[in-house]
Amino acid sequence: MTHELGHFFELAHIWGDDEGKCPSTGGADDGIDDTPPQAYPTYNCAVFPKLDGCTRSAPGIMFMNYMDYTNDNCQQMFTHGQVAKMQAQIHPFALSYSLTQHPDVLQYPDQAEENNYVVYPNPGDGRINVRFNQVSGNVKGIRVVNMLGQVLVSETITNQRGFYYYDLSRAGTGIYFVQIEFADKTDVKKVVFR
Ligand SMILES: [Zn+2]
Repeated sequence: MTHELGHFFELAHIWGDDEGKCPSTGGADDGIDDTPPQAYPTYNCAVFPKLDGCTRSAPGIMFMNYMDYTNDNCQQMFTHGQVAKMQAQIHPFALSYSLTQHPDVLQYPDQAEENNYVVYPNPGDGRINVRFNQVSGNVKGIRVVNMLGQVLVSETITNQRGFYYYDLSRAGTGIYFVQIEFADKTDVKKVVFR
């Protein structure tokens, strides 16, 4: 699914779908500067370093990239260049901009009474406010994770307050998830930084 979402945000296969050609001989490559040239897709789970006709010396091709065909459990990374290309697609009027305009994303503030809290502003600039309508003591933790599942905020709560603020303005544009751990469930809200 991560591989297919890469395509959704306009990433090409890392080997360039060009039948073994290399950029040095007129091949398409993937249009990303910081992925090494690669001739063909990688299958199964390769051993590092793996060399091929387009990258003949170590550290070799990036077979562990999500945009290769390596087995799922051997894929683990996008490059900075790939991330920049994906993030560019949600900027106003880029190819995936419409995704950020879905009513569920734009609702401000989110008044879902059953959850008893709001996260705002959304979209925002990375500064997140979490306000609980009641201080019930039912809240056990707050986490913020990015689309790769990396944890940016992890706060364990023993004495719940009504309001929490996190400055993630340096985290970069994109989609993030605020996870609220209640005593009996974990709730998730998607927020967009732009
Ligand atoms: Zn693909």
